Order: sequence, then C-alpha cells, then structure tokens
Amino acid sequence: MNIITFAPSKKAPIMDLLKNKVALITGAGRGIGKAIALAFAKEGAHVAFTYLNMGEPELQTEQELNDTGIKAKGYAADASSFEQSQEIVDQVLKDFGRIDILVNNAGITRDNLLMRMSEADWDLVLKVNLKSAFNMTKAVQPIMLKQRNGSIINMASVVGISGNAGQANYSASKAGLIGFTKSIAQEIGSRNIRCNAIAPGFIETAMTAKLSQEVRDNWIKTIPLRRGGTPADVANVAIFLGSDLSSYVSGQVIHVCGGMLT
Ligand code: NAD
Repeated sequence: MNIITFAPSKKAPIMDLLKNKVALITGAGRGIGKAIALAFAKEGAHVAFTYLNMGEPELQTEQELNDTGIKAKGYAADASSFEQSQEIVDQVLKDFGRIDILVNNAGITRDNLLMRMSEADWDLVLKVNLKSAFNMTKAVQPIMLKQRNGSIINMASVVGISGNAGQANYSASKAGLIGFTKSIAQEIGSRNIRCNAIAPGFIETAMTAKLSQEVRDNWIKTIPLRRGGTPADVANVAIFLGSDLSSYVSGQVIHVCGGMLT
C-alpha cells in the first residue's frame, strides 16, 4: 500500500487574529515557545517572553519578533520560581500595560525508568513543568480578573493522558497540568477568563532531537499522519486558543498529535 504524506504548510495566513493583544509566553527562546511567539506576532500580538538563560537563540528570538513590527521583549526568569514569576509578571505589566494571553510553555524532560529515576529528577520535572504553571497563572490572574478578559494556554502532552514508560515524572507533570487547566477554567470562567491545554504528540524540537533515530522512527510509525509535528503545527492551535475564535472554548485539551492518540 502506498502511503501518501503531505508536507506541513510553512506559511499560515495572516489575519490579525491577535491584533493589539499582549501575550506572555514562558520558555520561548526556541522550539514550540518560539514558534508560538512568532505566530502570535504575525497575528498582531505584542509579545513578552521568558527564558532561563540569555544565549544566542534567545537574543535572536527577540530580534526576529521585533523585526515583525510589534513590541517584543525577553525576560530572564526561572518559571519554576514563585518569586521570579511574580517579579516578571509585574515587570511585563509595567512594560506592556496589560496581559491578555498567558502561555505556560516552559518544560523539561529527565527520562528514566522508575527504578533508576532519582528523587532530584522527579522533583525538578514537577517543579519546572507543573509548579511553573501555578506560579505564572497565580501572578497573572489578578490582572486578567481586572481586565475581565484573558486566555491561559497550558502546554501539556499526549503522555499526560496515555502515560509513557520511562517518563513517569514527565507524564505525571503533564497529567497534573490538565487537572490544573480544568480547575482554573471552572474557577475563573465567570470572569471571562478561559483556560485550555494543548497536548502535543511527537513534535520536532531540541527536546525530541535527543531521542535515537530508532526511537524516532518507531514513534512516527504509530502516527496516522506519518510525520512528526512541527512547532508551527502547535502554534496554529495556540493562535486559535489565544484569539476570540475560541471565545466559547474553555477547560479543554486539544491534541496536536497527527492522530497518534485518539
Ligand atoms: P525545548 O526544550 O526546545 O524548549 C523548552 C524551553 O523551555 C526552552 O527554551 C527552555 O530554555 C525553557 N525552559 C526550561 N526550563 C525553564 C524554566 N525553569 N523557566 C523558563 N524557561 C524554561 O522544548 P519544546 O519541545 O519546545 O517544548 C515546549 C513545551 O512543549 C514543553 O512544555 C514540552 O513539555 C511540551 N511538549 C513538547 C513535545 C515535543 O515533542 N517536543 C511534546 C509534547 C509536549
């Protein structure tokens, strides 16, 4: 049987879906976060983003964003730190005047079978992937409550739903994010603040580049669309969730996985 695969479209149409909205995205120096930052900017949003350490990719992201003509600024902050998250949100509010969209994107893996997983690797993954969303959402909540408007997007994963051998810490953190998303949607929906999660499958970034070719090939065989996703595939769904197109969508988990998990 011949399987025909289609290449992802590189250029999404620009429709000003986020015109004049202010977005704050964590961990957007590269990968999915960067793709979301650029896609948001192309749709007219002003973009504040955080990164852990300022390096070449982060500087480049700031430059690329500014080149689109919107206002953009990068902030060094550890999203897993409660204090730093509050400080950064205060600073973003001073610099941008409002925050309409929060994307809790920062995330890490420390994969290992449970029998070899250290306590430090469990704690770190839960802190960076799950506590960071608590930190940032708590800091942004009063601003969105005052505005009576906001969209919060949490970057979960399909393994937060399915589980994955060798990723007990990561899967637990992403499952936790989904519970967090649904709870926040219920708590502050009455103030016109929406909270949704995106569950990417296998997306081609530095995070998945660490995997061996054999593991990557095996993943791709299980994907009905027969390819890994691109960061832009995820960013397109983030545009939808950040924009008014999704004004009646809250508490949901949208899978971006090429049909891998149905
Ligand atoms: P990546 O490693 O390329 O990027 C992650 C970014 O988060 C980096 O810029 C990193 O500096 C930043 N970061 C890490 N710790 C941070 C911290 N404490 N504070 C602030 N920033 C921090 O990974 P990616 O593939 O772009 O992943 C982005 C998100 O998508 C993550 O939450 C990841 O779990 C999730 N995800 C990725 C995939 C995939 O296949 N790539 C699949 C499902 C979910």
